[in-house]
Amino acid sequence: MKFIDEYRNQELGKKLVDRIHHQSTKPIKLMEFCGGHTVAIFKHGLRQLLPQTIKMLSGPGCPVCVTANSDLDKAIALAHLPNVIITTFGDMLRVPGSYSSLQLAKAEGSDVRVVYSAQDAVFIARDNPDKSVIFIGIGFETTAPTIAASIQQAEQEGIDNYYVLSLHKLCPPIMKALLDLGEVRLDGIICPGHVSAIIGSHPYKFIPDDYGIACVVSGFEPLDILLSVDRLVNQIETEQPKVEIAYRRGVKPEGNQPALKLMDNVFEICEANWRGIGPVPLSGLRLNQKYQRFDAENSFDIDPGPSREPEGCICGSILRGVSTPLDCKLFGKACTPVCPVGPCMVSSEASCATYYHYGADYGG
Ligand code: SF4
Repeated sequence: MKFIDEYRNQELGKKLVDRIHHQSTKPIKLMEFCGGHTVAIFKHGLRQLLPQTIKMLSGPGCPVCVTANSDLDKAIALAHLPNVIITTFGDMLRVPGSYSSLQLAKAEGSDVRVVYSAQDAVFIARDNPDKSVIFIGIGFETTAPTIAASIQQAEQEGIDNYYVLSLHKLCPPIMKALLDLGEVRLDGIICPGHVSAIIGSHPYKFIPDDYGIACVVSGFEPLDILLSVDRLVNQIETEQPKVEIAYRRGVKPEGNQPALKLMDNVFEICEANWRGIGPVPLSGLRLNQKYQRFDAENSFDIDPGPSREPEGCICGSILRGVSTPLDCKLFGKACTPVCPVGPCMVSSEASCATYYHYGADYGG
């Protein structure tokens, strides 16, 4: 198949749904890790097509949502410094931190600009040599190589007023942390497609090997996801958990080696703080020694103060797959996309916003 409508072909979809119904005999829980998959599943009504035996849970794969308030507070504190331009992806703007947001900081006079890539931030730095330009680096392995490239570009061009606040997170370590928490018993995981395009499928091998849990790397079209569920059910029913790729057009087992090398040249692995989970060893990326001078956290003196969570918000347990947005008393009342209380109502890939946009009755 070459074209997007082929991945939405109804006849093929029906065949896959029939095969899933035919194969699935025992109750199982599957988690889609990635927020992009959550959106696709809801948008195309896939949960309703699956048999009662399959329960789908959403995981922590929304980069904005998993950013801890203490880290958001650092970004907001940086925005309040004089002669600073904050550059960020759009989703970050409205996420409430402990006491404010980047949007509020902008309204109060801070120079906060939305960019579509880290390279745009480098251009802003080049055009504003008398200002410090800080890029808020969030995201998983998908975005980290592009931010590494921006740092190398700034170095090569001698741009000395460009900085990155590196809040990047790594997927396999947080999957392990969630499984070790043991709050949710999973039978299978739909592994993230975009992240896997970079890291490949090998890093998930510990999941079937150590935890006996099935894994399938999926694309984002309805047939991709149905095929992934089909393969997961097959692994579970035959008791042969392994890592499969159901997204061959985007993912190679070995990943994208040039992108991995780029990341490796600029970043080193460190502990990261995850919303709802806390500090997880070896689950984040910070700038390595060679690129220290681009590190915003080390280059500016800020004191964001103690962080706090929004009262009544259960984003943390939603991100761990323990709760759904429907369990939150604020959902659709005090918390809506227009007036979000927590990050899961802000981002386009976030669970609460997805439930809100595509109908809360779609899969609670
Ligand atoms: Fe947090 Fe709002 Fe989601 Fe409730 S509905 S968990 S307050 S983001």
